[in-house]
Order: sequence, then C-alpha cells, then structure tokens
Amino acid sequence: ADKLDYVKSKIGEYVDFPKKGIVFRDIFGALTDGKACVYLRDLLAHHIRITCPDVELIVGLDSRGFLFNLLLATELGTGCAAIRKKGKLAGEVVAVEYQLEYGSDTFELQRSAIKPGQRVVIVDDLLATGGSLLAATALVRKVGGVVLECLVVMELLGLEGRKKLDCNVHALIKY
Ligand code: IMP
Repeated sequence: ADKLDYVKSKIGEYVDFPKKGIVFRDIFGALTDGKACVYLRDLLAHHIRITCPDVELIVGLDSRGFLFNLLLATELGTGCAAIRKKGKLAGEVVAVEYQLEYGSDTFELQRSAIKPGQRVVIVDDLLATGGSLLAATALVRKVGGVVLECLVVMELLGLEGRKKLDCNVHALIKY
C-alpha cells in the first residue's frame, strides 16, 4: 500500500488536456522518479505472479504500453510483443478497428508474435472507454492467443470501460 501511495502521488494530473473538460493522468510524471519506477515494476510484476503465474507473453499497446511490456517480460522471464497502430509492423499482420471519440483507428499485431494457445497478459498505462483493450483482446485471440488478463496502471472508473471487456481486468490505481 505504501508503494502504491507513493506511485500515485507521482502521477501527473493535467486539467483541460488534451482539451477542455478532460483531466489527463500522466504516467510520465511518475517515471521521472527513480523510486516510483522501481515500485511500479514491483507492483505490476507482483500482481502478475499472483494472478497469472503461468503467463508466457506480455503484450503492450502502442505506445505507453511499451514502457511496461519489456520491463515485465524481463522481470518474469516471458517474451513480449507489441500491438501497434496500422502500418508500422512488418510481415503478416492481423488488424482490428476500434472506436475513438471522433472516428476510428486500427491496431495491428504480427501473426508470428503469438503461438496458438499461448497465455498472454495485455498491458497499457490507462483504461478509459475500453475501446483500445477490447481491440487488443480481439487481436490476441485472432492469432490464437489466450488472454489471461488486461493489466493497467490506471483506470477511469466513470467511463465503465471494463464492462466492454470479457476478460479479467486489473488496475493498480482507480480514479
Ligand atoms: P480507451 O480506449 O478509451 O480505453 O483509451 C485508452 C487509451 O487512451 C490508452 O492507450 C491511454 O494511453 C489513452 N488515454 C486516455 N485517457 C488518458 C489519460 O488521461 N492519460 C493517459 N492516457 C490516456
């Protein structure tokens, strides 16, 4: 609880960013602090060791999810993979479109990134409406992966994003 409180105290809060009425939660505020980095790593890794001890691959979402996928993979001894915005990944990819506030975007995943039946934890910095993680779970399943959990540092409870997701969801910090 002490580690969690410390990390929470370092998360940035920006009112009216990126536009009026939004309170932007900024993970980078915590990452400039050495102790917060270590605590964040410990908290996320500890959670996965408890809930998903048999995880085989950590999948991070473009782009702040990449701060955590390799970190957790090295900590847990698993591999890691990246879900990226359309057009960035080489070779055969699968794609899923997801909704943004205005319009839509597309996430892609390399088919070779996940072996059929492989057990996956998906990580990102923040869960808002859940559209991003919904697309990510669809992509992982499309290539045969098994989603054990979606793990985020922060969750905006008011948007009820976890209701969209049909897998385990865990957030360290809830607003
Ligand atoms: P969702 O798809 O609506 O759940 O939005 C989640 C995505 O938007 C994540 O990749 C977040 O990085 C980003 N996002 C939305 N709101 C915030 C915020 O307040 N701080 C940081 N990232 C945010």
